[in-house]
Amino acid sequence: MANLLSLTQQFRQLYRKVFPIPCLLCGLATDDQALCESCIAELPVIQQCCIRCAIPLANAQICGQCLKKPPIQDISLSLYRYEQAIPRMMSALKYHRQIQLAEMCAQEFISYHTLATLPDVLLPIPLHPSRLRQRGYNQSLLFADSLAKLLKIPCRPELLKRIKKTATQTQLNAKQRHKNMRQAFEYSSSFVPQHVAIIDDVMTSGATTHEAARVLKRVGVETIEVWTIARAISHY
Ligand SMILES: [Zn+2]
Ligand SMILES: [Zn+2]
Repeated sequence: MANLLSLTQQFRQLYRKVFPIPCLLCGLATDDQALCESCIAELPVIQQCCIRCAIPLANAQICGQCLKKPPIQDISLSLYRYEQAIPRMMSALKYHRQIQLAEMCAQEFISYHTLATLPDVLLPIPLHPSRLRQRGYNQSLLFADSLAKLLKIPCRPELLKRIKKTATQTQLNAKQRHKNMRQAFEYSSSFVPQHVAIIDDVMTSGATTHEAARVLKRVGVETIEVWTIARAISHY
């Protein structure tokens, strides 16, 4: 079995030498991943942000909005500012099955953030079953699965269910987004973890993760984190 496994690995390495994966952004050969090393190095990593909502900040720990009205989650972590190549990357992950992007972002997320106390479970933001059928996969689940493998903690997509088919949020302002997301989720287990991380691809107004966090708080989850790949650079 071990021999067969190493043979498969050798074949894969050889195959990738002959047919390397082109970088999604510049087209050059990559090291068996979604982007080449130089494109990864140029991505707009968030250097400093609000600890509660992950909005990029120049030099404060908590943004004005969170000081006025703190969000439900205790901590928000994000990796990239939603600008430059990121909108293109996120749309490739969401609509064009660029699954390797989820793995790459999970690796970058972990190498960038110091995660002192790990959550008990990861909960990806679910899609409504009809949207899942349409798209065939959930990009947030792909990211959560990759994180779960790397961190060796369980990903439990079945705990949080989407019970309302919400309108696409792109054209909505923050207030409309919050209204649109109301009652969108349901917690469907008697098992309630103490500490969870909600996983999503992009955080814009925070309406989606706010609604998920509200449901989790109501069933008794004590500590809630929100982990996303990208964060909008201003409150919408
Ligand atoms: Zn590249
Ligand atoms: Zn904030």
